This record gives sequence, structure tokens and C-alpha cells, in this order.
Amino acid sequence: MASSKLTSFLLQNLGELKSQGLFNVIDPVEGANGPIISVNGKKLINLSSNNYLGLATDDRVKDVAIEAIKSHGVGAGAVRTINGTLDLHLKLEEKLAAFKGTEAAIAYQSGFNCNMAAISAVMDKQDAILSDELNHASIIDGCRLSKAKIIRFKHSNMDDLRQKAKEAVESKQFNKIMVISDGVFSMDGDIAKLPEIVAIAEAYDLLTYIDDAHGSGVLGKGAGTVKHFGLQDRVDFQIGTLSKAIGAVGGYVAGKQDLIDWLKVRSRPFLFSTALTPADVAASTTAIDMLMESTELQDKLWENSAYLKRGLKELGFDIGKSETPITPCVIGDEKVTQAFSKQLNEEGVYAKSIVFPTVPKGAGRVRNIPTAAHTREMLDKALAIYEKVGKELGII
Ligand code: PMP
Repeated sequence: MASSKLTSFLLQNLGELKSQGLFNVIDPVEGANGPIISVNGKKLINLSSNNYLGLATDDRVKDVAIEAIKSHGVGAGAVRTINGTLDLHLKLEEKLAAFKGTEAAIAYQSGFNCNMAAISAVMDKQDAILSDELNHASIIDGCRLSKAKIIRFKHSNMDDLRQKAKEAVESKQFNKIMVISDGVFSMDGDIAKLPEIVAIAEAYDLLTYIDDAHGSGVLGKGAGTVKHFGLQDRVDFQIGTLSKAIGAVGGYVAGKQDLIDWLKVRSRPFLFSTALTPADVAASTTAIDMLMESTELQDKLWENSAYLKRGLKELGFDIGKSETPITPCVIGDEKVTQAFSKQLNEEGVYAKSIVFPTVPKGAGRVRNIPTAAHTREMLDKALAIYEKVGKELGII
């Protein structure tokens, strides 16, 4: 029997969420998460996935994953440090290092646990972390887990970062100080000011940690935001995920050999959680090969993204300060945002609403992510639906 404390906790909290309209009902996608998806039996143009390059559903990548299951099984069978390190994991890690231009790399089971693992393996309670206020939840949790003092700086505000770095150094309270930023911010699609972040870090002797979940495969001819700015030798931790442009699942740190050696002996998910599956590892290795062989998919992604952005702007939508394929339609009011997303869905577009607490109150938006797999016809149809629904709801 469930504890009465648990029952009353759940009743009260779920009740509150439901009465505020904040209980997220999840509709499963029936089949693959490609440019067109089926939800509740209805075909929809999908503008909500992170499958930037279409690799999650690419035939070459799928074939490699199937072969890996045949040769290596469905599971790795153990944690990496017992005997779950398969030859496939080492191949992937070598590939990741080459992809990112670093000495070495280490793979984790997800981008989320990579941040939990890496931050807490290096930082501790004698340290401080300067963290952009819009950093991803997994960074926030990794910082908390480390027990370091967390000092938030205003989003991409370099004066605030510089001032807080100066104060932290001058206080002489901390052993190490790290600055952490997303490479591309997932809600607005803006790019971190990496050259300035790195310059401040060098001036104050800060460790640098860039989570490029949304930049890898997208910026820097695929290699990500750090490469985009030519800063490969000046960032200590290059974090990425295998779950977005790479199309599979997993996370990684790329950096100096010593750092990776340390993470292999001290980061807890590497030591205590079963290794990535053979299919994900093999699929990711091939996906990265494809990115390194040609920029065709990135070119298509940027072409589609420019087309969608131009179309939405011409219709009168506010797409915020996006500099990447992540394209918000900023609406503001939460209820209007949710109604807009629902009506888009009814007309044939799947574009999720994002409201408080994921973004600040009054900054509700529908977030669009075009991919390389969308055709011009799909984007035209989506734009026509945006126009219809936008006019009906008085947004444009
Ligand atoms: N970091 C950032 C910046 C992200 O946007 C995400 C995904 N939402 C993650 C980490 C987590 O990655 P994963 O989905 O691979 O766990």
C-alpha cells in the first residue's frame, strides 16, 4: 500500500498543476521522429525534434546500428570500468576527439548525465562556478551536485561575467573557478559570446566549460560552436550530446588527455552505470563520419532554417534573437501561446509551446526546429498554416 504521506503529496501537487493548466500531457509519436510524424493517427509536419540533420532516421546510420546489434548484442553488459567497454566505445571516443579537435574524449549515457558527471568530478566545495542564468537544467544539476558555490551571471552579459569573475578571484575564497555556458541556447537559439568568455577566463585563470548540445553538427562546419570561433585549444571542456544532430543517444566530454583520464576514474556514471548500447555507439560513430565527410546536411539545414525564418518574419512573427536553426515564435501570454500551438496541431503542424517555468513568465513561445530532412513543400505548408492560425488568434 502506498504511504499516506506520498498519496497526499501527489494529490495536492498534481491537483495544483492540473488546475493551473501546467500538467503536460504527452502524446506519443507513432513511428519515427522524422520531418513528418504521426500523432493520434494524424500526420503532422514536425517542427519540434532535435533531429537537426535527419540522422536519427537515416538509412546508413540505421543499417550500422542493426549490424552492431547483430555483432555486439543489444546491451553492453556492464559498466565501462568492469567489462562494458567494447571496442565500439573506444572507436567512438577516438572519433569524437578527432571531430572536436581535442586529444581525447569520453562518452556517457546521455548529455544530461554527462553534465552531472563531469562538473561534479572536477569541482568541489572549495570551488566556484560562474554559470549563465539560462544554462540547461543538467548544468544546473551538475553544479549543485559538485557542492561548489554557484554564481549566476546575467544571460550572455559579459560585463556581469567579468565583474563576478573579478570579485570571485579577489575574494581569495576559492580554489578553482569555472565558467560554464551553453554554446547555443536552446530556448532562443542565440550563440554564446565565446571569444569574450574565453578572454575573460584567460584574464582570471578560470576553467572553461561549454555545453554545445545544440551547436554540434550545426555550427563550425559540424564540429560545433567552439570550432565556429576557432577556440579549440582554449576551452577545457567541450561537451556534446549524441542525441540531437548525431541522431542517437549519449553525451560526451572532449578535452585534454589528462582531463579524460581523470573523468574515467572519477566520474560516477562512467563507474556505476551500464555503458552505452552497441547500436547507439555504432550509429553515432557513423553519423560523425558522415559529418566529417561532407557539409551537405548542414548546408541543407541552414538553407531550410533561413527559409523558415524569412517566411515567419515576413508574416509578422517575432522570432526573437535566434542565430541558429532554433526558431522561436515569441508570443508572450501563456494561454495564447498554448492555444496557438494547439491550433497549429489541429491544422497539421507539430510545434510545441514553451511557457513558464521553462522560460520567464510572459515570454511564452512556440519553438520551431527545421531540419535537413524537411522539404521546401513541407516548409511552405507549415508557413501557410502559421499564417492562418496566427491571423485567427490575432498574433499577426
Ligand atoms: N545540454 C543541453 C544544452 C541540452 O539542450 C540538452 C538537451 N535538452 C542536454 C544537455 C541533455 O542532453 P541529452 O538529451 O543527451 O540528455
